[in-house]
Amino acid sequence: MRHDRGHSASVIGESTSQRWRTSLTTQIDADAVHSKYLAERAKRLRSDGNQQYIEPTGKFASYLHDPYVAPVERDPLFDEVTVAFIGGGFAGLVTGARLRQAGIEDVRIIEKGGDFGGTWYWNRYPGAQCDTAAFVYLPLLEETGHMPTEKYTHAPEILEHSRRIAEHFDLYDNACLSTEVTDLEWDDESRRWIIRTDRGDVMRAKFVAMGTGPLHRPKLPGIPGIELFEGHSFHTSRWDYDYTGGDPSGRLMERLADKRVGIIGTGATAVQCVPHLARACAELYVFQRTPSSIDVRNNQPIDPEWFATLEPGWQQRWLTNFTILQTGGFVDEDLVKDGWTDIAQRIRDKLFEGPNPEFTPEAFERAYHESDDEKMAEIRHRVDEIVEDPSTAEALKPWYRQLCKRPCFHDEYLQSFNNPNTHLVDTDGKGVERIDETGVWANGRHHELDCVIYASGFEVGTEYARRSGYDTLGRGGLALSEKWAEGMQTLHGMHVHGFPNMFVVQHAQAANLISNIPHNIVEAAATIAAIVAHAQEVGADEVEVTEAAERDWIDQLEQGARRFGGNLDCTPGYYNNEGQATTRAGILNGLGYPAGPVAYFAYIDAWRNSGTFEGLTFR
Ligand code: NDP
Repeated sequence: MRHDRGHSASVIGESTSQRWRTSLTTQIDADAVHSKYLAERAKRLRSDGNQQYIEPTGKFASYLHDPYVAPVERDPLFDEVTVAFIGGGFAGLVTGARLRQAGIEDVRIIEKGGDFGGTWYWNRYPGAQCDTAAFVYLPLLEETGHMPTEKYTHAPEILEHSRRIAEHFDLYDNACLSTEVTDLEWDDESRRWIIRTDRGDVMRAKFVAMGTGPLHRPKLPGIPGIELFEGHSFHTSRWDYDYTGGDPSGRLMERLADKRVGIIGTGATAVQCVPHLARACAELYVFQRTPSSIDVRNNQPIDPEWFATLEPGWQQRWLTNFTILQTGGFVDEDLVKDGWTDIAQRIRDKLFEGPNPEFTPEAFERAYHESDDEKMAEIRHRVDEIVEDPSTAEALKPWYRQLCKRPCFHDEYLQSFNNPNTHLVDTDGKGVERIDETGVWANGRHHELDCVIYASGFEVGTEYARRSGYDTLGRGGLALSEKWAEGMQTLHGMHVHGFPNMFVVQHAQAANLISNIPHNIVEAAATIAAIVAHAQEVGADEVEVTEAAERDWIDQLEQGARRFGGNLDCTPGYYNNEGQATTRAGILNGLGYPAGPVAYFAYIDAWRNSGTFEGLTFR
């Protein structure tokens, strides 16, 4: 069945876009385009890779403070729980919910922020909204009876939903909020985890799980002179509404009316907040190193009458449908219909174009390249359709494959540059030169500013222990950082030999589904609940993956890894280790189940329901 791809039509006009697409194949000079990709990549490659970024320490330490609550004083805790979960984002919430449903009463979530929500607790910048459709992005919608109000829900509603889950499953009762774990250590004698926090707690837990988030620790660009700036500044993940006025609902930031504001970075975050800044600031300077690809958003309100027609079990069906389509599989209906499923649909269409379709890796790669060439040409065409000034439009065009960087979807970002107060400062891949007391230098020119906002993203390629803020000592004092020094070693991305009764909730070495992180979490939560319930039932004190099972899993993943040469011409970014050669550790940390996410979810469902939990020992 042919699927609706009418999204872009709604913005650039049905007939224009149809005509454009029809003539596209003949218009693309693929060789010229790919040479340009390589040239744009070469401009941006730098030997310092991830090291170009700096941690928010010293003068910038305050960038990490929680601006949303004043921590409430409490006495330190010296008690014991069955399960402690580190991190109160979706991972902690969904695992907590599933554990409660499995009859585990004393679940304690320990969270650095003043409330649940994780990334949605911290990121309250104006315009923040989910980039994956709410029906598959927001977990536990059926269980909590919530109907998202929009297809791509805005951040306040997502934060509210996080609180709803916590309330619904009584997760507030035992939670430790505004509490940061400082040490985590396995005590072999008592067979318990000992958790120390910045509140002086020394808690014990039979099981420990951690879901500290893949994009958790803000990073800053190591621009010379960054510490000199005397105006106001902050990172997007701690938006300073006291300074800007407005609020996370998108209310006009009235205090910026007389301010010259610079924003550094043009990734997914900047794309969402720039339209709000453009509306509010006296002058806005958007410092760009590499433009994002901006496809159509086409957000819509949800119709309650239609929502009421969904049959029980709908959310799991939607999750499966999205994941199948997004990863290149076949189903009759595209329930979500968005930019993500469109990418895969185009590849499938290409595969079936000729009279004798082939399904070899080479045919897939060819289909991927051709459909991507078309998609990126459309995206660049869209810039021309929207942005009035031709040189600004030229600078906003992305010259790389869509999946080289996080694809962005927005219907107001490009339009912002038609506003006379909004200036794109394109640096042609070089980035900001330096910062001084009064502003930002780029292209040899000084821009005087009252405020600098860093939309510079989060640490990704750094070590797990550094990102989570504490190390974990397993059996015999073995540090997780040491065990993973040459890359992650796990069974299912979750169990680590030498670290009994511990679960890591993240997507690598498992489904590795990037387009919808919560789907990975939903499955991991079900798995943890099944294992803990089983351990309690059989009276096991320890659950641990065997060394052999861990090794076999890594072997299976490494041997089956798809050597997909499709992204060698990418501009640098965190998706490709800043364009640097990938080490074995990097490869291990990015491994996914060879047969893909859909097969992994089926596999893990059967594994946890088998009751034998092959590869784990229960002692
Ligand atoms: P990113 O890491 O994507 O972007 C950082 C930006 O800073 C890039 O544009 C980078 O340019 C730029 N930059 C770095 N150094 C310099 C410099 N010296 N001069 C000028 N520019 C510089 O961070 P984001 O916060 O935008 O997004 C991070 C991730 O968070 C996303 O990829 C996505 O996974 C997630 N996210 C999800 C959202 C959602 O689902 N709704 C919304 C927002 C974010 P360059 O590209 O050249 O490196």
